[in-house]
Amino acid sequence: MTTTGTPTLAVDSRTRYTSDETCFAGTSTGQTPGSGKETMRILIAEDSAPSRLALERVLVKWGYEVVPCRDGSAAWEQLQLPDAPRLAILDWMMPGYSGPEICRMLRAKGGEPYTYLLLLTSKTLKEDLIAGMEAGADDYVTKPFDLHELNVRLRAGMRILDLQAELLEAREKLREQATKDSLTGLWNRRSIMEILEREQARSQREGAPIGVLMIDLDHFKQVNDCFGHLAGDEVLREAGRRLLASVRPYDGVGRYGGEEFLVVLPGCDEAGLRARAESMRAAIAAPPLEKVSQGLTVSASFGATVFMPQSAVSVSDLIRIADEALYEAKHTGRNRVVLRSPLIGTLR
Ligand SMILES: [Mg+2]
Repeated sequence: MTTTGTPTLAVDSRTRYTSDETCFAGTSTGQTPGSGKETMRILIAEDSAPSRLALERVLVKWGYEVVPCRDGSAAWEQLQLPDAPRLAILDWMMPGYSGPEICRMLRAKGGEPYTYLLLLTSKTLKEDLIAGMEAGADDYVTKPFDLHELNVRLRAGMRILDLQAELLEAREKLREQATKDSLTGLWNRRSIMEILEREQARSQREGAPIGVLMIDLDHFKQVNDCFGHLAGDEVLREAGRRLLASVRPYDGVGRYGGEEFLVVLPGCDEAGLRARAESMRAAIAAPPLEKVSQGLTVSASFGATVFMPQSAVSVSDLIRIADEALYEAKHTGRNRVVLRSPLIGTLR
C-alpha cells in the first residue's frame, strides 16, 4: 500500500457516498509545508478515486510520502500496523468504515504514539462537525477545500505530532533518570529494591526460589586514592558491565550504594546461586579493566542468600542476611562468595 508511484487510475465501481467530486477550490498556493518533514507519511482514505488521486498528487508534491486507501477497511488495516502513518486524512463517508468510525475505534484502542486524524468532509452542518470531533478527530477540512487551508492544517498537525514526540522523549528520559543509576546505567537502589519486592511476591505465587547477591568491590577506596576518581568511576562502570554480561535478561542488577551492587536472580536455588555467584566473582576479578591504569587489580566479595517461597522472610531480612554473608566474605579474605541460607544457617 505504501507508494509514492503512480496509483492505479481504475475508477472505483463502489457506491459513492458523496456527490462532491470537486477536490480543490482555488489554485495551488505553491507552498511546501512541513519543511524538514520530507519523509513524513500521511494516510489518505478517500473512496472517490479522482479526489484521492488529486490529494495524493498535491501531498507528494509537498514532499510527503502518501499511503493511499480506497476505503475505510483498508485505512483501518493500515492504521493497525506497527509503523502506521502518524497522520491520517479520512474521508467522512466511505465504504467499510466511515471516517468518524475509524476515529472512534482508534481512540478506543489508545496507545502511543498518537495518530493525528483529519476528517475530510463535504458536510457543513455544524452538528455533524461536532460529532466528528467528538468521535476523536483532531481537525477537519471541508470539501471543496483550498490548498492553503489544507497546508495550514497539515502543519498544525505536524506541530502537535512533534510536540508529542518531544513529550514522549522527555518522559522516557525522566523515567530513565528516576530508575537508573547515572554512572553505571544499572538499576538504582530504589528500583532494584522494587524488583526484589516484586520477585518475592511472584515467588510466593509461583513457588520458585530467588537468588539474592550483595556484592562489594574490594579495597575500592584504594582505587580512588591511588588512581583517582575517574579511574574509580571506570572501575564501577566496568564492574557493572561484567555483572550484566553474566546474568540472564530477566535478572536484576542494581547499584545499591557506593561500590555495592545488589543482584536479584529469580528461579535460582542454592546450587544455582553458588555457581552463578562464582562466575560473576571470576568475571570481576578477570583482567584487564579497560581504560584503567596498569597494576590495578579489582575483585569483589559476594554475600549470597536464597529466598524460599514457603518462608516468611521479609525483603529487609533478606538484605540483612546477604549483608551478613558479605561481611563474612570480607573478613575471611575477600574475593570470595559466602552463601548463607535463612532457613538452615550458614552454608560453606
Ligand atoms: Mg466518500
